[in-house]
Amino acid sequence: MIYLKTQEEIELLRENNILVSQTLAELAKYMKPGITTLELDRIAEDFIRSHGALPGFLGYNGFPNTLCISVNEQVVHGIPSDYVLKDGDVVSVDCGTFMKGFYGDTAYTFAVGTVADKTAELLRVTKEALYKGVAQAKAGNRVGDIAAAVQEHAERHGFGVVRELVGHGLGRRMHEEPEVPNYGARGRGPLLKEGMVICIEPMINMGTKQVVFERDGWTVRTKDRKPSAHFENAVAITKNGPDVLSDYAIIEQAIKQQQQ
Ligand code: MG
Ligand code: MG
Repeated sequence: MIYLKTQEEIELLRENNILVSQTLAELAKYMKPGITTLELDRIAEDFIRSHGALPGFLGYNGFPNTLCISVNEQVVHGIPSDYVLKDGDVVSVDCGTFMKGFYGDTAYTFAVGTVADKTAELLRVTKEALYKGVAQAKAGNRVGDIAAAVQEHAERHGFGVVRELVGHGLGRRMHEEPEVPNYGARGRGPLLKEGMVICIEPMINMGTKQVVFERDGWTVRTKDRKPSAHFENAVAITKNGPDVLSDYAIIEQAIKQQQQ
């Protein structure tokens, strides 16, 4: 069942996704060598609670923390720990909120200090792939149009597209229908309709597309242990085209301020 949202509901989803984006912007200040991923998790939890929301991931299917933090070869669902960030790391931070009956779900992959050129390219291409997917999020298109746009862009650069994990509808539940894969064929899959809200979230590997599920029950990593990147936007399908509910501008402004 795909739930279509009213404009009022879309605005509540926007509030949530802006708060998640603000949380990620706050974390950008601390994304430096020497901090542990568990410290980042505490900062995010305090920030979310002080803004009147609940961490959306904490306790979700038993997940133990506020953030999924996935470093380097970790793809998604990494558990915050005493791991200390170092120069050259890439850190995927996936964050959720729950407020006013709706969820927020947005992710960004940060570079710590100076990363290898090829790694910087992986981050750039993965974010571009997200934007290519978002551009297809229009009423009358199908989920396969999004999926194919993401896949083609990543593979054109020789990167691997993860198959096992997919985007999803977002609303009163964190994961609603439809599934939104990052691979597929144009013109296939569920029809996109005005009022749908979906999360588009490419998970792109530098090397093989194959992944391994770690024994902690959560962490997904690349099979070849090469780096992976993950970017996620929540997007509403409207009569005026895609309405992006996440806000990368405030995250990237915060990153720039740290670099000055
Ligand atoms: Mg997410
Ligand atoms: Mg998601």
